Amino acid sequence: MAANFRSIRYSLVIPVFNEEAVLPILLRRLELVLSRLDGPAEAIFVDDGSSDSSSIVLRALATRDPRFRYIGLSRNFGHQVAITAGMDAAQGEAIIVMDADLQDPPEVIEQLIAKWQEGNDVVHARRLSRDGESRFKRATAHLFYRILGRMSSVGIPADVGDFRLIDRKVLDALRQMPEQDRFVRGMIAWLGFRQTEVAFHRLERAAGETKYPLFKMVRLAMNAALGFSDLPLRLAVWCGLTVSGLALLYGGWVILMWLSNDPHLVTGWSSTILVVSLLCGFNMVMTGIVGLYVGRIHAEVKRRPLYVVQTQIGFDRNEAMTAPAIHAVNE
Ligand code: UDP
Ligand code: MG
Repeated sequence: MAANFRSIRYSLVIPVFNEEAVLPILLRRLELVLSRLDGPAEAIFVDDGSSDSSSIVLRALATRDPRFRYIGLSRNFGHQVAITAGMDAAQGEAIIVMDADLQDPPEVIEQLIAKWQEGNDVVHARRLSRDGESRFKRATAHLFYRILGRMSSVGIPADVGDFRLIDRKVLDALRQMPEQDRFVRGMIAWLGFRQTEVAFHRLERAAGETKYPLFKMVRLAMNAALGFSDLPLRLAVWCGLTVSGLALLYGGWVILMWLSNDPHLVTGWSSTILVVSLLCGFNMVMTGIVGLYVGRIHAEVKRRPLYVVQTQIGFDRNEAMTAPAIHAVNE
């Protein structure tokens, strides 16, 4: 095992949730790609609580073929956690995450690797087209990436899912981000490093059905919006300010009507509306401000590192120089 550790160059991480229909084709295509790679590779299947025969097939495969590994989660934790579990176990110098359903063609891996060998640390695979997905899914995905791009302060690339290659050092940094509500593609964008992309045509699912129903998509979108933007909080403040502003304008207008003895003025009504809407506005502002503080606490609780050091040169040399000096004092 120890000898194995250093020699692995590429780790493929593949989350699997009830994918028995697609496994035979996937394994065939994967074997071809693995045999073409220019270094030793491992393929890690993360079984995200499958209840079909996927578990049996993959467990048997991992027992008999040393290139394949199997991680079985105790239940369905969701795609983002599954890929995290797989990446945590990866031993390679370059780690590639891809879906099991062949919507991320294994052949693109070679293009990702080529870009990595040019010196890039993160290579995203960007979807040029999406075949076989409903118009609703395509439209919501399009909207999601555009809105997220505007909301977020880190440049999360559009039309990029979780199909990507990351370098070992990016993975080491990613593993320092222990946040619970994970949106891995945003976290990787946040990390920086040298990022680039290759484009591919996303094909239809080779077999089986999507494991991402609407509620899982909404949850992912919420994690993205709350984890990578404080726009919703600022929105509350702006809403409150607008309502208060409108209430004040209305107040001014009512006073003008009253001064000019307008016969349409109903006594009592205007002042009630004025007080209610003014209070509503204040309330919204205060909620928004509290929200901003909660947002800060939220960010703290996530315990993200403040920054990530990419390279360090000469530090061990400094240590080596001070160490003998301490020795000298002791003697
Ligand atoms: N998946 C998973 N856990 C889940 C849902 C999905 O591990 O709770 C896996 C699934 O087996 C597939 C990948 O994540 O390999 C992407 O899922 P899917 O293809 O169903 O999503 P879609 O492409 O339809 O968005
Ligand atoms: Mg899919």
